[in-house]
Amino acid sequence: MRYFASMKTAYITILGSGTSQGVPVIGCRCSVCSSNDKLDKRLRASILIESAEATVVVDTGPDFRQQMLREKVTKMDAVLITHCHKDHIAGMDDVRSFNFLQKKAMPIYASPEDQKLIKTEFSYAFAEKKYPGVPSLDLIDMDENLLKIKDLNITPIRVMHRYLPVFAFRIGNFAYITDANYISPESFDALKGIDILVIDSVRKEKHISHFSLGEAIEVARKLEVKKTYFTHISHLMGKAADVNAELPDGMLLAWDGQKIKITY
Ligand SMILES: [Zn+2]
Ligand SMILES: [Zn+2]
Ligand SMILES: [Zn+2]
Repeated sequence: MRYFASMKTAYITILGSGTSQGVPVIGCRCSVCSSNDKLDKRLRASILIESAEATVVVDTGPDFRQQMLREKVTKMDAVLITHCHKDHIAGMDDVRSFNFLQKKAMPIYASPEDQKLIKTEFSYAFAEKKYPGVPSLDLIDMDENLLKIKDLNITPIRVMHRYLPVFAFRIGNFAYITDANYISPESFDALKGIDILVIDSVRKEKHISHFSLGEAIEVARKLEVKKTYFTHISHLMGKAADVNAELPDGMLLAWDGQKIKITY
């Protein structure tokens, strides 16, 4: 059983399971935003991946600093960028804490298109004469080829967020798909065989650029995954306790701080 002997374990932490505004929404008095249930507090969507050797974060949204503090993250080997919407990159300035700790630039894996947007958004970090203390970002091309970061093997997979290509990621028996409402047959094939799926589902009603709950359930069923967790959730989804009670077996709304064991 050499195959099993060589299997490695990693842990996923849901850093945030909320849509772009987070939950609660500023000023909203709806029952979800007023809920005292911890499951109804959702920071912006991001995950942490930790293996024996590597610590990697997917996206650095506006809540990145708070997420790093909450999970007591003290080292970071790389950042993977799904796409450049503000709720996924707005906190990138705070990687400088890791620059200072590790005394080196932070590898940022992103598509060439996203790298252009990062350079515009954080122009001061790429200026010829830099202000002291600005983040040090080492932009690295990402395509659909396997990424090796220390002992982690990560496969980026293209999915569509209306007209915008976004990266999903597969590590062994696990996949993370945020900000998507279409998966091509080729990308679907690349996802086959996973056991655990974290997938975008913003609300129950149809949305122009995100999977609805019904659409995300359909993807999970087609992939025959054992455990599915929905993320990038809006307050319009309803209270976690109510929605979870209605979901099919093996499916739940993701929650902030959730840990998932994966093998690869
Ligand atoms: Zn988003
Ligand atoms: Zn609300
Ligand atoms: Zn987006």
